Formats: sequence, structure tokens, C-alpha cells
Amino acid sequence: MKQKMVLRFPAAVVEQPFTYHLIKDYNLMINILKANINPRMEGRMVVEISGAEDDFHRGIEFLQSSGVKAFPLEQEIAWVEERCTHCGACVIICPAGALVLERPSMEVKFLNEKCIICEHCLKACPARAMEARF
Ligand code: SF4
Ligand code: SF4
Repeated sequence: MKQKMVLRFPAAVVEQPFTYHLIKDYNLMINILKANINPRMEGRMVVEISGAEDDFHRGIEFLQSSGVKAFPLEQEIAWVEERCTHCGACVIICPAGALVLERPSMEVKFLNEKCIICEHCLKACPARAMEARF
């Protein structure tokens, strides 16, 4: 299985080598999409984790038992469709291709499985249709 996850590290554990343990002890592949880690401060990473389903669940249990919060990525950025005016401003700036303009309808769609939580669209959207839920 393959799953994009958001990992939030409390300050007390931010310097521990969690990715090393996920790879070595749980046979998981970790692709780091985004990381914001500072010594002695809360950290956040967006990662794509792939491996056997059992190993994946054991790895997530290991993280959670160590105080790391792990969420599927799609829970973090939301598109509020009712507010969207389909202006297309977000499509141009999204680096991951997660916001696309469909033709011939010319309507914008959010493909949350592609989102890497860069947050560029939050500032670019004039209608405040993109929300961070963290
Ligand atoms: S947070 Fe970044 S990657 Fe995700 S939809 Fe917005 S611009 Fe695209
Ligand atoms: S910038 Fe906002 S209003 Fe414009 S298409 Fe994107 S989500 Fe919709």
C-alpha cells in the first residue's frame, strides 16, 4: 500500500530518528514531500509511506506510541466547493497539480490525493475556498 501522511512531532521528540526506524524496523519506504523540523520546536512532515499493509499499520502504531500524531494527508487541506468561483487563480500556483481546470466545463476540481500541503492556495484564493484544517 501507499499513503500520503502528515506527521506532527511534539518538541520533546522532534530530534528522534523516526524515519530511520520506519525504514529499518518496519520495512517501509519513506518519501519526504515536505518537512518543517526545528530543534526543540514542534515539527511537521508530509511523507508518502509505502510498504506492506501490516508493516504500515505497525509503523503508524510505533509513531503514535512515541507521541507523533499521524494523519492521512487528505484531512489537512480542504476545498470548500460552495465558496469556489472557479476563477482559476489556484490552478496556476499549485505545484503538485492538485487543483485542475476541467474542460469543457472550465470548473476547478481539487484532487486531494496529489496535495503536498504547501499552502500556496490558501493565500492565492480570493474567495477563501481553500482551508487548512490543522
Ligand atoms: S496546498 Fe499546495 S499542493 Fe495542496 S492544493 Fe494548495 S497549492 Fe496545491
Ligand atoms: S482560487 Fe479559490 S475561488 Fe479561485 S478556483 Fe481556486 S479555489 Fe476556486
